[in-house]
Amino acid sequence: MSQRPHAIVTGGAGFVGSHLVDSLLSDGFKVTSLDNFGSGRTKNLKHIESERFTSINHDVREPFPDVGDVDYIFHFASRASPKDFASHAVEIALTNSQGTKHALECSREHDARALIASTSEVYGNPEENPQTETYNGNVNIRGLRAPYDESKRFSEALAVAYEKKHEMDIRTVRIFNTYGPRMDPNDGRVIPNFLSQAIRGDDLTIYGDGSQTRSFCYVSDLIGGIRTISDAPAAVASGEVFNVGNTQEITIQELADVILDLVDTGSGVTYQSLPQDDPEVRRPDISKISSELDWEPSISLRTGLERTIPHFEERLEGD
Ligand code: NAD
Ligand code: UDP
Repeated sequence: MSQRPHAIVTGGAGFVGSHLVDSLLSDGFKVTSLDNFGSGRTKNLKHIESERFTSINHDVREPFPDVGDVDYIFHFASRASPKDFASHAVEIALTNSQGTKHALECSREHDARALIASTSEVYGNPEENPQTETYNGNVNIRGLRAPYDESKRFSEALAVAYEKKHEMDIRTVRIFNTYGPRMDPNDGRVIPNFLSQAIRGDDLTIYGDGSQTRSFCYVSDLIGGIRTISDAPAAVASGEVFNVGNTQEITIQELADVILDLVDTGSGVTYQSLPQDDPEVRRPDISKISSELDWEPSISLRTGLERTIPHFEERLEGD
C-alpha cells in the first residue's frame, strides 16, 4: 500500500458519495472521484480544499482511467431516485452492470479492496419484514423499477463471481433509505420532495394513501456503517454483504406529519396515485452488522430532519 491509502469513489459528486469523500479525506486518504455529473453536482465538492482530492468527469460505463496505484474502490455511481427509473432506465442498468465490471476490473488490476453499493431495492416489495441479508426478495423483473433493482442484483452477483474466481477482497453494503444535507431538492425522493414542498408552502404530495412504510437513516450514520464495513478485517468482512440503515419504521403519512410539525409552514397534504411496484413495507434487520462489526445508527429521524432542514432552506433560497 502507498504511504497514504488511495481510494477511488465512483459517484463522488452525489449525495452519499460526497459525504464518503469527506470521511476518507478527513482520515488521511488520497481520494479520486469518478463521476459523470448526471445526478451529482460540483457544488457537493466545492468545499473541499485538500490537495489529496481529485475529481474526474468520467462515466463508469467506460473503463476507468489510469489514476496511479489504488488501494480501495468504493463503487457508488448510480442514479438512485425512482423518478429516474423510467427516464434513465438503460443508463442505470448499464451503470450497475458495465460500471460494476469496470470497478471490479480496476480492483483486480490494483489488488484493491472493493466496496460495492447495493440497495434495499434488491428485496423488491418484500414478503418478509424486516429484511435480513438472507432474504432473496420479491422483485418484478419487468416492472418500472427493474432497471435499478435487477442491475443492483446483478452487480452483487458479479461481485460474488469476481470474488470467487479471482480471490479478491470485495464487500457489499445494502443501503436502506438515507437522507441528509446535499440531497438535491429536485431529486424526487420523498424527503427532498416533502422538505422542499413544506419550505415553499406547497402541499406535500403523498403517493397512495400513505400507509406504506420506510425506515430512514441519517447520512452520517450511513457513512459510519460504510466505513465500518470497509475498515473491517478481511477475515470478517471479505465476501460479505451487510444491511445498513435505521430500524425506526414509519408510514409515509407519519413522515409527512413529522415534517409539517418541524417546518414552519402553511402546507397541507394532497394524495396522488401510487407508482407501480412501490414497496409496501421496508425495514432493515441490522443484526448482522451490529453483532459482527459492532455498528448501529444513532441519529433519530427528528434529529436528522432538524439537521437537514437548514440545508434545504439554503438551497431553495439560492434557486
Ligand atoms: P445520487 O444521485 O446523489 O448520486 C449518484 C452519483 O452517481 C451522482 O453523482 C451521479 O452523477 C453519479 N453517476 C450516476 N451514473 C453514473 C455513471 N454512469 N458514471 C459516473 N457517475 C455516475 O444518489 P445517492 O443517493 O448518493 O446514491 C449513491 C449510491 O448509493 C447509489 O449507488 C445508490 O444506488 C446507493 N443507494 C442510495 C440510497 C439512498 O437512500 N440515498 C439507498 C440505496 C442505495
Ligand atoms: N413518496 C411520496 N411522495 C413523494 C415521493 C415519494 O409519497 O413526493 C413515497 C413513495 O411512493 C414511496 C416512499 O415515499 O412509497 C419512498 O419513496 P422514495 O422515492 O423516497 O424511495 P423508495 O423507497 O420508494 O425507493
